[in-house]
Order: sequence, then structure tokens, then C-alpha cells
Amino acid sequence: MTLTPLALLKNTFGYAEFRPLQNEIIDRVLQKRDTLVVMPTGGGKSLCYQIPALLFDGLTLVISPLISLMQDQVAQLKQLEIPAAYLNSTLSAQEFQDTAQAVREKKLKMLYMAPEGLFSERTLALLQPLKIDCIAIDEAHCISEWGHDFRPEYRQLVQIRKTFDSAVCIALTATATERVQKDIMSSLEFKTDSAFVASFDRKNLFLRMTEKQDQTAQLISFLKQHPEQSGIIYCFSRQQTNELSSYLKQAGYSVLPYHAGLDNATRKENQERFVRDDVQIMVATIAFGMGIDKPNIRFVAHVDLPKNIESYYQQIGRAGRDGLDADCLLLYGYGDIAKNRYFIDQKENESERRIATIHLQAMVQLAETHVCRRILLLDYFGESYGKDHCGKCDNCLESKELQDVTEAAQKFLSCVKRTEERFGAGHVIDVLRGSENRRLLNLGHQHLSTYGIGKEFSKQDWQYLARQFISKGLLRVDPEYGSLKLTARAQEVLFKEAPVEVVAKPQHRQSEMDMPSPQETEYDPKLFELLRSRRKTLADGQGVPPYVIFPDKTLMDMAARYPQNSNDMMNIFGVGAVRNKRYGPIFLRIITAYCQEHEIDRDRYRTNRAPKKDTTPKKSPRTTQIGESFAGGRSIRELQDLYKIKRSTVIHHLQDYIMQGNSLPCAFLQKELDPQFDQRALQEAFDTLGARFLKPVFEHFNGKIPYEELHLQRLHYVCKRKRAD
Ligand code: ADP
Ligand code: ZN
Repeated sequence: MTLTPLALLKNTFGYAEFRPLQNEIIDRVLQKRDTLVVMPTGGGKSLCYQIPALLFDGLTLVISPLISLMQDQVAQLKQLEIPAAYLNSTLSAQEFQDTAQAVREKKLKMLYMAPEGLFSERTLALLQPLKIDCIAIDEAHCISEWGHDFRPEYRQLVQIRKTFDSAVCIALTATATERVQKDIMSSLEFKTDSAFVASFDRKNLFLRMTEKQDQTAQLISFLKQHPEQSGIIYCFSRQQTNELSSYLKQAGYSVLPYHAGLDNATRKENQERFVRDDVQIMVATIAFGMGIDKPNIRFVAHVDLPKNIESYYQQIGRAGRDGLDADCLLLYGYGDIAKNRYFIDQKENESERRIATIHLQAMVQLAETHVCRRILLLDYFGESYGKDHCGKCDNCLESKELQDVTEAAQKFLSCVKRTEERFGAGHVIDVLRGSENRRLLNLGHQHLSTYGIGKEFSKQDWQYLARQFISKGLLRVDPEYGSLKLTARAQEVLFKEAPVEVVAKPQHRQSEMDMPSPQETEYDPKLFELLRSRRKTLADGQGVPPYVIFPDKTLMDMAARYPQNSNDMMNIFGVGAVRNKRYGPIFLRIITAYCQEHEIDRDRYRTNRAPKKDTTPKKSPRTTQIGESFAGGRSIRELQDLYKIKRSTVIHHLQDYIMQGNSLPCAFLQKELDPQFDQRALQEAFDTLGARFLKPVFEHFNGKIPYEELHLQRLHYVCKRKRAD
């Protein structure tokens, strides 16, 4: 077999196809052209240098700042019998010598090192005589002062480039603004700018955010949807971490706490037990997570509002690195916002306070928005989502009640005008509510015509409304002073009576818990458990985390396709030649016994085998049930009652059902349409504007047809067209 990147991907790593950009990046590196890779966590950055490393003659140096990650990577490579090692401060003198010897004898393909270790004399003496073909720099944002994790020792890496000037450089990071990207490339003296930037979108993460009602009950209800799964719960303080973790422990959950107040040994042990699947849930402060490579974290819950979107994104990013669905829940309360504000106020530096406030506001806006959260999240990182709906956030799956607040908006906006757009929301609210605080009286604002005209709402309600007005674009916040400014749209509300609707402030929403769990996948859970427990013993025997043996997805694939022999095994996701030889027989024995015991006809699964694609079998049984019942004559109303779900949820299931290639009877859909809307006109609109996005159609009808109805109309339109084709 000729060694090509694709052959290596298949045979060594056991994957059928490259992920987006991997192939292009690998080609470029093989041509020895410097490359910057920006890909979200779990995107598959490592393969971008590991595959070239296997193809180059000489050695590949991998620079990584975190010792635990280094060890983890090397352990995984060893499982594949790829000659790799690391040099760092944890090695004993003997181990160092052994590794150095292997390096000198050119037995290694990859050598992992921390940047500070690189410049010691003994390391340089070791490396100097060698042919180094590639230098891979992980967490490359550490090189930039503009990044969020600047490390001065990274600055010196350019010297190592000069020492080994025939080596190509590949720099990798999960987070880099454009400025940081430029900084990385110039600091490393790239000859041409060549960044490969993948989308920030983590498609497998389900996002939901909900106001706290009864935090504990909400959290428990969330945990119940994730039995036997690994997850992290982030808390604000150490004390809260301890309390929540003992509470959950008493409630019978497998949990441990993690925060900076625990001594080093305990922290290390708790982390280790989590990584090795000895314990399922980590209740932690933000101190936890750096250097955790555990791929099967199935959920991340926040019981407090993160201080900005970057931290939120980084923390939820730890879920679902394996590409399987993962669930993110954020519970927020108004107390949290105040708490965050308090900490911001403690900052000494004025400009730091200002920036932190703006970041916090963006986070609050994300939590309170009623449009698709993914759109807002990506927008924050400067990426446009290109769809009006992701289908994987709470806002996309349920329609929220809208409330007409035109009058309140007029009051608020005119008060902003009367106070000359010089104040933040707090002061405007004080004026509206007729406060008698000293500052207000000193300013003479008690004489304004808007003084005291807004007593019908509490301060908190007004604050909620103010944020909604901002997110609707009626007001913008002055980035320098935090004062509110009227926009052109505000003028329309003030002078043309343009209506304003906002989502009713959540009262006792029984939150989004009636959605199908994202984990309803199609594999045999009993067999999966057997395989998993065998993997655990194998892993413990070797002293490595279970995912180093095989990722969950591999076991799920086995539990879905019941491989019978070594050939079948090679078609399982993540099984390459080496691991097949090592572990194939062990797992095959379990599968065979299981199939015999349960009289499973394995040939059936063999014949309709799908190629081992890097896609998750995600058909939810619920979608199929709902689609079939509807096709069988049940109405949406009946399905709502039957499954205790919202109308919009039923509609989304129907939509997914159709997307999976099924069809639905047009006549039944027709019955569900609201007769007050002109169907001919709608059909024409879909014909001319297209049916892919609803926003143009929504705007075409001046927003008079609600989205929920449009979703349904579109279904009908699509079904009719299918008929006609
Ligand atoms: P990152 O470093 O970008 O966070 P990793 O390199 O750790 O991501 O990859 C995440 C997971 O995806 C790993 O388990 C890796 O083996 C897997 N992976 C990488 N490339 C592919 C691929 N082409 N097909 C399937 N799985 C892949
Ligand atoms: Zn969405």
C-alpha cells in the first residue's frame, strides 16, 4: 500500500474520511508551507500534524504548554503503535535518558515538548544534529499578547524556527480573533499569510438557557436526562461548589468537587477519577477544564452566569469533543447579574471596568434573547450563521409567547430622549419610576415630563425590558460611557407608533424539559454497557483513561452494527489495523456472546451496513413516531397532548421527519394551516423567495404571519412540490 494521507487516516486511525479542511491543511504542510489552523475544540486539529509527521522522513516537534495534554496524546499514539514520546519535567533521569536515546537513534516520529523545555542546553544538544521536518505549535494563541492566555516563553519559539530552518511550521489554536491570527503568523515569521479558519459553530452542542426558578429542581431534572453520563457543572464560588457537590452526592449522584481551594493532591485525584470514568460528574469552578482532553463529556451545566461569552464558549466547548451530541444548560438569575456587576465594580482600572461591563451585557443578552442562540453566539465571534434557525437551541425548538410592549417602549425611549441620551438604564428607570434619589434630584430630573410615568413596572421588569429594547436594536449602548442612545428604529417607535413585541418575561416556565433528549441514538444500550465495562477494565489495567483504548463512538458503532469478524471490525468507526489486532478479538467475543444470548441475527445488520462515516446516527425515535402518527391521521393538537410537548416542537419533529426523506400527506397538512392567510400568496412567495430560509418570506408579509405558521406553511409547500415532482 502506498502511504497517502487518506490511507493513513483509514488504516492507522480507523476513520473513513477527512473532516473539513484537514485534507487541505495536511497537503499544505507536506509541501512545507507554513500554516495556521484555527479550529474549534474537537475539530480534529491533531491529525493535521500527526499525519504529516508519519509521512516526513525526519522528526516532528510538537510544542504544547500542558503536560497532561502531552501525556494524553502520547498515550493515544502509543495505542496506535505510532512512535511518539515526550520530554518534560515529570520524567525521571532514567526516562529522560531513554527517550533521548530513542531520539538519537531516530526511532521517533513525534516528540512532544513544553516551550520552556526547548531551550535548555541538553535539549538543544540533543536536537541539533537531527533532521527536523516539522514544528507543530499547539495552543498557538499563547504567543499573542492580544490572546486570552499570553505566555512569554512562546515568544521565543521563533528562535527554534531559525535553528531548524528546513522545518515547516504548523500553528494550531481553537480561539483566535483576526488580530491574534496575524500576530501568531508574524511572531513565527510565516512567509505568507495562510490561515485555515474553520467555523466556530459546534454543531453537536445543544444550547439552552433558562431563568432560575428552582435551581436545584431544574438541575436535577436536567441530570435525569443524562443518566450514567459524564458532565461538568460550573458554579461561581468554591463554597457553592462544595455545597452543590455534597447535595448531589447525597441525592445519589456520582460526583466530586473541583476548585482552587482544594489542595493539589485532591484536585489532581478528583480530575483523574473524572477522566477515567470512575466518577461521572464534576462540580467545579472555572478553575476546572484546562488541559482536559476527555472526549465523552455529554453535558455542561452552568448554575451561574459566566462573566462573558468567551468563557461561556470555552466552557461549553469541553462537551462533545468526540462529535457526538452534547447538551449545554445555562441557568441564570438576576442575582447573578448583580453579583457579576459587584465584582466588576471592584476592579480598579476604569477601562477594565468598562470592558467587563460590555462583555457582561453581551452575555446577558445571549441568555435573554428569543432568537436562535447560535446566530447570536456566532455573530459575537464575527461569523454569520447564514440560516434563521439552527434547530439545536431552546429558542429554535419552542415558540415563546410574545407580549405587546409598545407603550412601555415609548415611555422608556422618550425618557432616554428627555435625559439627553446621557445615562444608562438604571437612571432612566429611576426617572420613570419617580425615584427620589439624590443624584436624580440634583440633576433636576424630577421636573421632566417622563418622571414617574412608569410605576406600573418593577425595577427588575424595566431592566428586563431595557435589555430587550437593546437587543431589538431600539437602543444602543455607548461603548465608552455605557449611556443609552436612540437608534433610527427608536424614532419609528416614538413617532410612527411602530409596534414593539418582546418575549414575555419568563415566569414559571416549566422550562424546555419536554424536548426529546439529544442522546436518543440508535444503538443497543445493553451491549454498549457491556463493551464499556470491558473497556474500563482494559484501561485500568494499562493505567490509561478509557477513551485512549477506544472512544465512545466506536463502542456505539459496534453496538449498532454487531460486527462478526475482524473484517467487519475494520469497518467500525475509529478501528484501525493496530487496535483491531489488539482489541478486536476481545470485543468480538463479547458481541458474539451477546448476540447468541439475545438471538440477534447479525447478518441483517451486515447487509444494510452504512459506510463508517463521521456522522452520528441521530435519528430520534420520537421524530419517527411523531411523523408516522401524523401520517396516520393524528392532528398536531393530538400529538401535543400525547407527548406533552409544544405545538412548535411537534412541527419541528415533522420538519425533521421530512428532512430524513419521508413524506407526509398534503391533505393532513392542509387541515392544519390557518385559513386566515392567503395560501396562493404564500405559495408565490415561496416560489420567488425560496423556501430554504423563512426570514425573507416573513418580511415579505411584513411580519404579519408568525414564524410558527410559516414553518407549517413551508412543510405543506414542500410536500406539495414533492408530489408534483
Ligand atoms: P482538537 O485538537 O481540534 O480539539 P482532536 O484532534 O483532539 O481535536 O480531535 C477530536 C476527536 O476527533 C479525536 O477523538 C479525533 O480522533 C477525532 N477525529 C479527528 N479527525 C477525525 C476524522 N477525520 N474522522 C473522525 N474522527 C476524527
Ligand atoms: Zn437555534
